[in-house]
Amino acid sequence: MTVDTNRTQELITLTERSTAHNYHPLPVVVAEADGAWVTDVEGRRYLDCLAAYSAVNFGHRHPEIVDAVRAQLDRVTLTSRAFHHDTLGPFARELADLAGKDLVLPMNTGAEAVETAIKVARKWGYEVKGVPEDRATIVVADGNFHGRTISIVSFSTDPVARTHFGPFTPGFKVAPYGDAPSVADAIDETTVAVLIEPIQGEAGVIVPPEGYLSQVRQLCDARELLFIADEIQSGLGRTGATFACDHEDVVPDLYLLGKALGGGVVPVSAVVGNEDVLGVIHPGEHGSTFGGNPLACAAGRAVVGMLGTGEWQRRAAELGSHLMDGLQPLVGHGLHAVRGRGLWAGIDIDPDLMSGRQACEALLAEGVLVKDTHGSTIRLAPPLVVEAEEIDLAVDALSRVLAAGPQR
Ligand SMILES: *Cc1c(COP(=O)(O)O)cnc(C)c1O
Repeated sequence: MTVDTNRTQELITLTERSTAHNYHPLPVVVAEADGAWVTDVEGRRYLDCLAAYSAVNFGHRHPEIVDAVRAQLDRVTLTSRAFHHDTLGPFARELADLAGKDLVLPMNTGAEAVETAIKVARKWGYEVKGVPEDRATIVVADGNFHGRTISIVSFSTDPVARTHFGPFTPGFKVAPYGDAPSVADAIDETTVAVLIEPIQGEAGVIVPPEGYLSQVRQLCDARELLFIADEIQSGLGRTGATFACDHEDVVPDLYLLGKALGGGVVPVSAVVGNEDVLGVIHPGEHGSTFGGNPLACAAGRAVVGMLGTGEWQRRAAELGSHLMDGLQPLVGHGLHAVRGRGLWAGIDIDPDLMSGRQACEALLAEGVLVKDTHGSTIRLAPPLVVEAEEIDLAVDALSRVLAAGPQR
C-alpha cells in the first residue's frame, strides 16, 4: 500500500471547507472497512470500538447483510408506500415477531422513530385514554438523547443541544433518570406516555438501578400510560439481549429501533407495537417517502434473521464480560469509573489526567477508534464480530494511554 501522508490532511481540509461544522471528527479519514477493522486513506488499520454508535453492530459489511442488500439492488430499491412491494411484508412480520408485537411502522432515522412514537402516543392519549385535546404530556428522563429534531431537542436537558433553537415544542416533563418515584410525581391526568432509554447511551452508557424499568412499567400500567422504550442504541444485541428491557423482563408498549436495524448499510428505523396502540394511525396521518423502502427492508430482514438465533446476543454478553474484566483493573489507574452492559461500556477518564478528546486522540495513534461523549467519558462499543484478543488489544492500548498521561 502506498503511503501518502498529505492525503489525510487534504481530505480533512476539503471536508472542513465544504461541510457545516456540526461535528468535530477525530483526524482520521476512513477509506475501507471490514468486520471490526477500518483502513484509512494511508493504509493504516484501526480497530473500530465505536461501531457508528452501534449502527454497525454486526461489523462493517457483514457478508449476510451485504449479500441481501446487493440482491435487492438488482431487483427494486424504491417504490414509495403508494404501492406495495414484496419485501416490506416479510420484514415487518419478522421484526414484529422478534419483538413479540403485532405491527411495525417503518421510518428511516432514529429521530423519525421517536417523532412517530410521540405522535402515536398523543393520538392514543386523545382517542383511547380520553385526555383533553392539545393537553397531552409525555414524561422523559434527565440526560436523555433521542435525536436532533425541534420537538426532540425541546425535551433535551443538554444546553448544547438546545441553546438558540427555541421556541420549543410543549408537552414534555423531565424526571431524573433512574428514579421511579420522580416519574410517578411527574405523572398527572394529562400524561399519555413515559419515554426513556432503558440504558442511556449518549449520556455515557448509564445503566439505571435494578428495578427502575419494571417500576416504570408498573406505573404505566397503574396510570394507563404507554411505556415507550427508545432502544435505538441499546437494542438489537448490543447489551447481550435482543432488547435492553429484556434484562428486567420488561415489555414496553412501543419499541423504538434504528441504528443497527439497517445493518450498517442504510438508515432503517421502526416503531414496533400492538394494534391497540399503533392502530390509532390511519392512511395519510403519518409517513415517509423512504420509510419501509425495499432496500431498507432487505437490510432489516437480514439483521432480524441474524438475531433470530440468539448467537449475537450470547456473543455480546460473553465478550462484554471479557471487556469489563479488562477495564475494571484500570479503575484508580487513570479511570474513575467503568460501567456497562453486554458489549457496551462507558468509562470515565480521570479529568485531571486528560480530557476524553485527548484520550481518543491518543487511542487513535494506538490504532483504536473511539469517541468521547461528554467531558471525560468515552463509550466503548466494538462491533459484535470483534474477537476477545482484539478487545485485549484495545484495553492494552487504553492502559498505555492512561499510563503515559497528559504529555501525549
Ligand atoms: C442515535 C439515537 C437516536 C437518533 O437516531 P438518528 O438516526 O441519529 O436520528 C435516538 N435515540 C437514541 C437512544 C439514539 O442513540
